[in-house]
Amino acid sequence: MNDINGNQSATVADQGDAPAENMAGHKRLQLQILIGFIAGLAAGLAAYTFSPGADWVDFIVTYVTGPLGQVFLRLLFMLVIPLLFAALVVGIAEMGEIGALKRVGLRTLVYTVVVSGIAVAISLACVNILRPGDGVDRAAAADLLEQGAANASGIVQASAEAKTGVEQVLAIVPTNVITAMSENDILAVMFFALFFGVGILLVQTPRTATLKNGIEGVFEVAMRLIGFVIRLAPIAIFCFMFNLSAQFGWDLLGKLAAFVAVVLLALAIQMFGVFPLLLRFLASKSPVAFFRETREASVMAFSTASSNATLPTALRVAENELKLPPRISRFVLTIGATANQNGTAMFEGVTVLFLAQFFGVELDLLQQAFVMLVCILAGIGTAGVPGGSLPVVALILSGVGVPPEGIGLILGVDRFLDMCRTALNVVGDLVAATVISALSGKDEARASDPLPLPG
Ligand code: ASP
Repeated sequence: MNDINGNQSATVADQGDAPAENMAGHKRLQLQILIGFIAGLAAGLAAYTFSPGADWVDFIVTYVTGPLGQVFLRLLFMLVIPLLFAALVVGIAEMGEIGALKRVGLRTLVYTVVVSGIAVAISLACVNILRPGDGVDRAAAADLLEQGAANASGIVQASAEAKTGVEQVLAIVPTNVITAMSENDILAVMFFALFFGVGILLVQTPRTATLKNGIEGVFEVAMRLIGFVIRLAPIAIFCFMFNLSAQFGWDLLGKLAAFVAVVLLALAIQMFGVFPLLLRFLASKSPVAFFRETREASVMAFSTASSNATLPTALRVAENELKLPPRISRFVLTIGATANQNGTAMFEGVTVLFLAQFFGVELDLLQQAFVMLVCILAGIGTAGVPGGSLPVVALILSGVGVPPEGIGLILGVDRFLDMCRTALNVVGDLVAATVISALSGKDEARASDPLPLPG
């Protein structure tokens, strides 16, 4: 607690430091997911092409693939509230853990919220302008929407349709957190978690330290259980893809390609537009030199698809290549590996809006603001592990009344997008560390630095 090092947020941070056999298992699972995706797509397309509207296809969708996919989703939903709550509380509590670095902690918090806000705004603008999900068969979408809403009625009831603007804003502050949790009112739960995290920050006694440990324990357990659920993903993806492609046919492939293109475009704008500006104006650092010096970390992030697994490399790059003051860079990077995930926030924003377009759900400005806020917070609350976004996306979808089954469409291309957004997450953390080091001034850094400054 009084020392900043890579272990400082070990419980959250090392979730992704999987040993070699875990990585091998993960690769195998990815392959199975891909096979499930392709097989489901092929079977669904065959059904769509050779027996369109046949009774047997309906039967399979209603009694086999539909329910199987639902089991997977319900298991995810069951775990996501404890997971998000624990990740947010711990993330916030850690930001101010070290008394001497409170100012750095505050800067990190403000920076994270502002830059994530910019990132999400860019991603929402891209989907709204390019509308990659438009133009699918409306009747089929309406059908699926109805079916999805009925299946997930318990989950979807929290959708905000009946509330007015002021009520929606007010609803962010829950009167009863248990009710908020039982209704899957994600924003209200996140608000409570943030508030609770600040409380833990303010009351630093042995008992609150135990409490924080306990909450970290909840996070670890939820992560492990989600790991079990994800093993069912190949079967679930097969079912989702079969259902979707049997109803939408070949349209689906074009939409999917457009979705991938929009995610990549949004990530590229943040990486090559926003980051260079932040570096140039807030840290007086040449973006070209920065990208060259951080190459090792971006390659690592891209290939592992885990910010947490990339943390050791990012720490080394910050100290050896960027020559940042270790005390500040270690703090910012350790927190950032979980809490500052621009790529993740952007991906979640694009995905939710794309699926809303796909299923013909019109989201008004207020609902989009809701999505934006949730994505900013989700960037803080999503675990920095491969596929960490998945449960969060499912939850946001149900929150805005879009069938969570749509997630099947995304999962098939998720591995590649995960690699790309993780690279952005890690580069974003290094940009944050560079900017916050510059803003905190060399004097402060030197005064509190236990190690000699490099260079
Ligand atoms: N894989 C991402 C990371 O580790 C999290 C996610 O968006 O799924 O940063």
